[in-house]
Amino acid sequence: MPKRCSKCKHNYANPPAAFYRNASRRDGLESRCKRCAARDQRDYNARNKDKVTARRKALWAAYYAKHRERLQAAARIRVNRRNHERKRDKARRLVTLYRLRRDNGKP
Ligand SMILES: [Zn+2]
Repeated sequence: MPKRCSKCKHNYANPPAAFYRNASRRDGLESRCKRCAARDQRDYNARNKDKVTARRKALWAAYYAKHRERLQAAARIRVNRRNHERKRDKARRLVTLYRLRRDNGKP
């Protein structure tokens, strides 16, 4: 059975794909279609930048506090790998430079 979006009035042939679920509603789906929900969310985020930023920071802080050790270990691995790669690349550049100079010195 098709369903009409309460906002854009578009008729959708396959409502479960076009509407988010909402168990408290009779048909189990939101009244706005996903496209309208996404646009409304984007507008809300733009209008409430400070609030959204504060909420995101608080969520990240809570997540970080909960997973601090794992996150720090992962960061350490990334830093070590990057340092290793830099050192390796520098050594390769030096070898290339050495070979170029050596070969250019010959007739
Ligand atoms: Zn809509």
